[in-house]
Amino acid sequence: MNREQEIVKTSVIGIIGNVFLVAGKIFVGVIARSASIVSDAVNNLTDAMSSIITVVGAKLSGKKPDREHPYGHGRAEFIAASFIGMLIFVAGALAIYESVLSLISGEKPEYDVYSFIIIGAAVLVKVGLGLYFKKKGEKVKSDSLKASGTDALLDSLLSFGTLVGAGISFAFGVHPEGYIGIAIGLLIIKSSVDVFRESASKILGERTETQFVSEMVKDISENPRVFGVYDLILHNYGADRNIGSVHVEVDENLTAKEIQILEREIAYLCYDKYNTVMTVGVYARNGGNGKESEIRKKVEEITAAYPEILQTHGFFADEQNKTVSLDIIISFECETPEKIYGEVRKKIQDEYPDYTVHIILDKDFSLT
Ligand SMILES: [Zn+2]
Repeated sequence: MNREQEIVKTSVIGIIGNVFLVAGKIFVGVIARSASIVSDAVNNLTDAMSSIITVVGAKLSGKKPDREHPYGHGRAEFIAASFIGMLIFVAGALAIYESVLSLISGEKPEYDVYSFIIIGAAVLVKVGLGLYFKKKGEKVKSDSLKASGTDALLDSLLSFGTLVGAGISFAFGVHPEGYIGIAIGLLIIKSSVDVFRESASKILGERTETQFVSEMVKDISENPRVFGVYDLILHNYGADRNIGSVHVEVDENLTAKEIQILEREIAYLCYDKYNTVMTVGVYARNGGNGKESEIRKKVEEITAAYPEILQTHGFFADEQNKTVSLDIIISFECETPEKIYGEVRKKIQDEYPDYTVHIILDKDFSLT
């Protein structure tokens, strides 16, 4: 079974589970002539919504790349998860609204044994569904499935709160339901914000997981022609599909043919093992121990004096054309990267006045 099929299957089980709950509640509600159980059943229908959104999201994200969306449709799933986040928010707001209404009206709900049975059953079904969604969501790395899991677990909490409230009012004749409803409603709203924030953050574009990056860098650097791996940039398009670029440092005397072979080796490695379409750029490393290595040492001394500079790479000195080039990465924590850039540049220039100095200010995309 592929990923999409697995998500669809899990969601269909969710839809069936919810439909059974709805049918059961309506049945019991009608027999017990309890309006609150019947209206609760209608509420349950909206829970099937998040499963439907999950299916739609999985179907959309599984669509092949096309002319309009050459990077594929993987991010549709992040959008689906954010919709579920909004749905959870509405559920929380409704819970608070209804609780406040019941507190204002002072109306006391009446419970009977049927109510306890059906609400208790709902708690069990919802906990089961929630845990099942979460587990599958982790397994196939589906945010919308995980969000549906959160949704179901929160529903079970709300039902459990109702059960506790009903129990207390049954036993002691006091009615804490309204307050319990408000408290749980607030909790649901907080969770909805978390779900929404997580998916929105993925749509914005997140830093790639450290472990993924370090394994990839390690694999690329195992190539005997690679002296260093830098500037790994990865754009995620859902379900671990990445498009990216990387710089490798190689000997300045490699031929185009040798670079071509190397480039292919790295691109295949990234595609096969990491599901990543990789573009490879090359930095040349000066050979020998002439003037270049003296300049390199001096430049490294200058940049090492700045703790804000996380990495210096891509150094190359060209004796013939009198140029020095290098890249520096300045920490995101540093407020004034341009100032440091200017200082480093000036120090190198002062040291080697007859050279043209090129420095590129790289971002800390993936340093581990
Ligand atoms: Zn660079």
